Amino acid sequence: MKPKFKNTIPYYIMPEGIYLGEDEYNSVLVENEDSKMEYLFSLFNGEYFIEEIVDLCNKKYTTDMTNDIQEIIETLSEAGYLENEYFENETLNNYMMERYKANLNYFSLFTDIYGNKYNLQKKINDTHITLLGVGGLGSQVLYHLASLGFHNITILDYDTLELSNFNRQLLYSEKDIGGLKTSLAEKRIIEYNPNINLKVINKKIESSKDVEEAIKGSEYVLCVADKPTLYIQDWVNEAVVKNNLPLVTGGILNKRGRFITTIPNNGCLECHKQKLINNDINIQNQLEQLNKNNYQRNNAAISSNVSILAGILVNEFLDIVIGINTPVSCNKIMEFDFTNYQLKELSSWNKQNKCKVCGNNEDKTI
Ligand SMILES: [Zn+2]
Repeated sequence: MKPKFKNTIPYYIMPEGIYLGEDEYNSVLVENEDSKMEYLFSLFNGEYFIEEIVDLCNKKYTTDMTNDIQEIIETLSEAGYLENEYFENETLNNYMMERYKANLNYFSLFTDIYGNKYNLQKKINDTHITLLGVGGLGSQVLYHLASLGFHNITILDYDTLELSNFNRQLLYSEKDIGGLKTSLAEKRIIEYNPNINLKVINKKIESSKDVEEAIKGSEYVLCVADKPTLYIQDWVNEAVVKNNLPLVTGGILNKRGRFITTIPNNGCLECHKQKLINNDINIQNQLEQLNKNNYQRNNAAISSNVSILAGILVNEFLDIVIGINTPVSCNKIMEFDFTNYQLKELSSWNKQNKCKVCGNNEDKTI
């Protein structure tokens, strides 16, 4: 193990001691009596194994500092200041290290000295994901996924580009109006990140079987397709439950953005619907009425709001793929208000054993 201060953690030597971290509200002052700590910190540069650091200090100060140094390393690691440089170059080549340099700095914020930020980037590069919908939200989500370094992406859409898309769909050009969004997205995304192996499906989703076809071979699903309004979530839910895949989904509802995450065997979107119907029978009547009227939602999405929600969805997605955080929307409908930036939980649920989609077979109530 070769301890190193993270790239995001500078330290400054001042007469009163050593300040760790550049954030004026969170930096920490460390005592620097006889400049001992200054010398020790200078050795946390990723060049020395812990044993070498101990040897160098013991020789310089002619006293046994082994336990003190171990303790300091543990404390600094737990506080999030140190990483282990010894992992370097084992997983990523120089090109990847440069392209994803800031990603690696970000991931290092979530790892201690035992964690490996390079493995997190590698996991992103190697994981096969499906993005359903490359319209307003989807085209921005796709950019974020490409920036993070997802190299194996399947995208699905059936729409063609229209003039009215340009208030929020940044991936396309006006000269391409009338073209298929999937083909146009493919062209742009491959130029942006040539490492991506992008599988394109031009198809309108009309059943859960269609979703199953699209997500075949994927390990995670992100759904921002919103048509047909009342059915798409059911079809996607059925398909991800059947294939044991985590799902992040969401959409814009006028002035608010909603997002949800489901994890296999932990309850699904149908469990939530069942819970709502059990609590209030009127909801079932409302849904039936909307179905009769073939309800389709009108779009009131502006680009800035779409960007915020796209960012949130991708962060939730990143959390479940590399596990650096627990997604806030696990089994919850979360809602972000674009007018005041407040986030609130609208609803939460647990797995319903009688769920007709994910419940235990003998208990299903179809
Ligand atoms: Zn369920």
